[in-house]
Amino acid sequence: MRLATVLTEEGPRLHLRGRSGYVDAARATGEPRYASLEQVLQEGPAALDLLRRAASQDGVEVEEADFGPAVPSPRRVLCLGINYLEHALEGGREAPSWPECFLRSSSSVAPPYGDLVRPALVERFDYEGELGIVIGAGGRYIPADRALEAVAGFVVLNDASAREWQRAGTQWTPGKNFDGTMPVGPEVVTADEVDVADVQLTTRLNGEVMQSARTSQMIVDVRSAIEYFSSFTRLLPGDLIATGTPGGVGSARTPPVWLQPGDVIEVSIERVGTIRNRVLAETADVGGWRWRPPRP
Ligand code: ZN
Repeated sequence: MRLATVLTEEGPRLHLRGRSGYVDAARATGEPRYASLEQVLQEGPAALDLLRRAASQDGVEVEEADFGPAVPSPRRVLCLGINYLEHALEGGREAPSWPECFLRSSSSVAPPYGDLVRPALVERFDYEGELGIVIGAGGRYIPADRALEAVAGFVVLNDASAREWQRAGTQWTPGKNFDGTMPVGPEVVTADEVDVADVQLTTRLNGEVMQSARTSQMIVDVRSAIEYFSSFTRLLPGDLIATGTPGGVGSARTPPVWLQPGDVIEVSIERVGTIRNRVLAETADVGGWRWRPPRP
């Protein structure tokens, strides 16, 4: 099943891909609370089964601009950094012997086809195409061989990063948390529908391939990522895990490639989907603003 959150006149509403178009989940099931992905995930497999029955219905066509983030308000976004060898090496690092991780907040989520706004205080704006894991049942101390039981599905995301803010200190929080810098979507593809252990991930900038890798190249694979994060926190329905980006980011290129207003950045994952965002400059007046990271 493929779940999308569609921006309607009544606000964002959970839809599922029908025999044609998209079917409103709450209307099709008669359960008003199923208007949100979070509520469906809270209720677990029974709710997903109810939705699944509606997948044979015909739905409405949805314009790209009407897709909201596929996970509109993730409880937490747990992110792996440096999770592909090529990306470690291009950043001048060795293969990590321990997972690098950081958190994003839900305010950094953005729609899959909307404008990706380059913040006014950022010049070194970079893309990171990644596979996202949407937690369903979740749990604590989840062994890798049972990890998929904790998962609702998978999404495509762009962990767009403000490099000068990421590198000004030792913590990555600001560089990874500018509002609206993580497009997610267009659909959550449920775990029964796709095996993501070895699928192709491709990032294109204005049509040119910048990142090309297979998810089987992850250092900490999908199952191990769930096992790792569940070591220190109970994974909860609606949590999102970003699994790290492969080599080819803009900051590691010579000369570096930074996202510019007008650019189109696209991330595709085989059998999961494609997100595509036009970069726009934020128009806030920040002249004289005190906090500007030093540029090495
Ligand atoms: Zn990343």
